[in-house]
Formats: sequence, structure tokens, C-alpha cells
Amino acid sequence: MKNQIEQLQHYIHQSKKIAFFGGAGVSTESGLPDYRSQEGTYTKMEEKQLNPKIRMSKRFMLENPEEFFKPRDNQTKPLIPEPNAGHRFLAELEKQGKDVRIITQNVDGLHQKAGSKLVVELHGNNRHFYCMECGREYPYNEIPRDDTNVPRCPIDNGIIRADVILFGENLKPGILDRAKELIADSDLLIIAGTSLSVYPAKTLIRHFTGSEVVVINQSPLKIKDVQVDLTITEPVGETFSKLTVHA
Ligand SMILES: [Zn+2]
Repeated sequence: MKNQIEQLQHYIHQSKKIAFFGGAGVSTESGLPDYRSQEGTYTKMEEKQLNPKIRMSKRFMLENPEEFFKPRDNQTKPLIPEPNAGHRFLAELEKQGKDVRIITQNVDGLHQKAGSKLVVELHGNNRHFYCMECGREYPYNEIPRDDTNVPRCPIDNGIIRADVILFGENLKPGILDRAKELIADSDLLIIAGTSLSVYPAKTLIRHFTGSEVVVINQSPLKIKDVQVDLTITEPVGETFSKLTVHA
């Protein structure tokens, strides 16, 4: 582990442009559940015989809004999550002058909250809510609900939803190109807290043409698309907390 940390420190130090590609595992140390681990959101749904690909789809939201917007009972996540050592390290590195680009599959905004300035949110964000009919935007605390507890716009009765990508929806135009561009133009790629199993994660990393690839993930990944130079099977925040920030 010590050698791995030294190696990572060395890669970061010598790199000029770092692309950090992160998934749910980046936020678990902030108390947010991931999807596929034992306590993961999808695992919990499947224990109740619910299919996440159906229940978390746009179609299900439109056809069964009452069920879709019903609070789930594994809501153990903190109301206001805070960035962890992983988010903070990356933000601090950027503050010191390193060109850090974050491409995240998370919708929680914790990188921005930590202070990172270049964050591409592939799957949207859970801080912006809008009416699907008229596009009116509603702050989280002021979302009106109908008598079945479905968030609805009082003007046209449209469903008010978070700006996140559901199953069956395409990514926002331009987002993928931006992510490709940032990855292609980086010299160090850090893949962290993601199984790389979901599109577009696995195809995006193919665009990397830089020198080193590091994987930080608690379970080892089989990656064919890029050559991995260093694998650390430890939590992301814990790993970064062992590094010194100097750009
Ligand atoms: Zn509306």
C-alpha cells in the first residue's frame, strides 16, 4: 500500500492534466449509498423484487408517478451530504494550480461543494428541478406536490423532476463530447469508485491517449480498453487522504 501511494503521488506530481473519472464509490465515504454493493440502492431494490432498470426509468415515472416519487424506506443517506477526503483532495489540487478535470457519474454535486471548478456531470444533477411541461424551475424546498404526493407544477400539472438521467433517457447533448475531449487531452487518468459497467463509462476511457492510468476501486476491475499502470483496492477518500497536496 505504501508503495502504491508513493506511485500515485509521483504520477500526480509529474502530470500536467489529470482526468478524474468517478462513480458512486467516490461518494460512499460521504454516506451516500452506491448501487451494486451489499448496501447499494439497486441491491436493496432487488431484495424487494424490484427491478431498478424498470423502477428508475422515465417510463415508470410517467406511468406510475405516485409509486416513483414515494420515498423509499432505505433512506439512510444524510440529508445534506458533505464532501469527503477524496473530493477535498481534488479540489485542493486544483486550487494549488493543477489542471484537474472531473468527469463524474454522480449527481450529488459534492465535487463542486468541495470547490472543484471543472466538473462534467454525465448523469445530470439532483440540485436542479424543473417541470417537464413548461420547464419552470423549482427550488428543492419549494416543490409543490399534489394530493397523491407527486411533485407537480401548479401552472400546467406537469411532473416536476430532478435533472438526472433515468434509465431509458439519453445523456444531454454535448456532455459526452465534452467528457471525451477532456479525457483525450489529459496525461493522467484516474478511474475511481466505478465498476465501469454502465454506458458511457466503459467507452469514454478509450479516448485517453496520455501516459498513466490509475484505478482506485475496492473491487478489482477487468479493463480491456486502456492499459492500467496502478490499481489500488482501497476506498477513494482514504487513498487520497494519504497523499500530500502539492501541484
Ligand atoms: Zn409547468
